[in-house]
Amino acid sequence: MKPFEHVHAGSIEEALSLLRQYGGKGLLMAGGTDLLGVLKDQILQDYPEVLINLKTIPNLETIEESSGGLRIGALAKLAHIASSPLVQSRYAALSQAAESVASPEIRNMGTLGGNLCQDVRCWYYRYPHHMGGRMLCLRKGTGPCHAVKGDNRYHAILGAKKCFVVCPSDTAIALSALRAEIDVVGEKGKRTLPVEEFFKPLGNALEKGELVKEIRIPDSPAGCRQAFLKFTERRPIDFAVASVAAVIRMQDARCVEARVFLGGVAPMPWRAAAAEECLLGKSIDPSAAEEAARASVAGAKPLRGNAYKIEIVKALVKRAVLS
Ligand SMILES: Cc1cc2nc3c(=O)[nH]c(=O)nc-3n(C[C@H](O)[C@H](O)[C@H](O)COP(=O)(O)OP(=O)(O)OC[C@H]3O[C@@H](n4cnc5c(N)ncnc54)[C@H](O)[C@@H]3O)c2cc1C
Repeated sequence: MKPFEHVHAGSIEEALSLLRQYGGKGLLMAGGTDLLGVLKDQILQDYPEVLINLKTIPNLETIEESSGGLRIGALAKLAHIASSPLVQSRYAALSQAAESVASPEIRNMGTLGGNLCQDVRCWYYRYPHHMGGRMLCLRKGTGPCHAVKGDNRYHAILGAKKCFVVCPSDTAIALSALRAEIDVVGEKGKRTLPVEEFFKPLGNALEKGELVKEIRIPDSPAGCRQAFLKFTERRPIDFAVASVAAVIRMQDARCVEARVFLGGVAPMPWRAAAAEECLLGKSIDPSAAEEAARASVAGAKPLRGNAYKIEIVKALVKRAVLS
């Protein structure tokens, strides 16, 4: 790994000021579980001179109830989110998603902010420099998306136009279904955006000099049921081949609200709007779940090697709806 300076930020203001001071040569670091791999493999052309340690910022690890919902600081560890009784009881889809991430070691270091901002896992994009040279591609600003003609078994089947990576973050899928919002701060102040809008076809919505401060989830109304399910090739550590988060609100035994988001299939958390429509007004039974499962993959355009994901998504959606 190339050498870099490591500076501690004592506050959000200091982190923002360090970002400004170092310009493109400074990168934020939280748990480092993703970033250090990116740097070791030198997958990016621009290498940072300085890592700005966020973990020294106090009070950014909190998981607390606020009026109308839950606030989670960007530095909250995935392990704490997974084991929090509050999250388990009221936001089960999020605790299940956090619990499904990687291994205990990574969950003990990895933060929610880092999980949302982590770099993608496309094997062309992440090809290490020391193994014959990094691969340039559309996402890096030069070249094609190699997945189109290459081995694309883990790539997108929905919502991709030019770059076929999939959103690697499990928590993003659950947070999207839970209507969570991200508070981002920068020099110009604070802005808030829904989690699903944070992910862009070639990156995320952070502008230069901004960082993620907090994630807020509104209260789940009475009668809400929720689940996060994930299919992986390897256990216990693996990214999702496909996942689903479903939040369904029932009234008088009928579904009055449904949010169904898919992971591992699109560059962003993918809202399965047609599946949600299928469930509205219905009692939740195997035939409604089957219909929603079929609708969840509406518009899928698999590449040569990943059509198998369609059946996996359908099975996950059916199970999540019935669970
Ligand atoms: C072996 C392995 C298996 C994994 N499996 C899974 C999995 O199954 N599911 C899954 O979802 N993830 C998985 N991951 C990814 C893992 O969850 C992330 O590495 C972790 O969540 C990143 O958190 P971190 O705090 O360590 O981030 P860091 O590594 O410190 O940072 C990651 C990126 O986010 C940026 N960043 C961090 N915090 C902020 C902030 N507050 N504001 C703005 N930018 C920020 C950094 O600049 C960097 O670009 C896996 C990782 C590994 C190594």
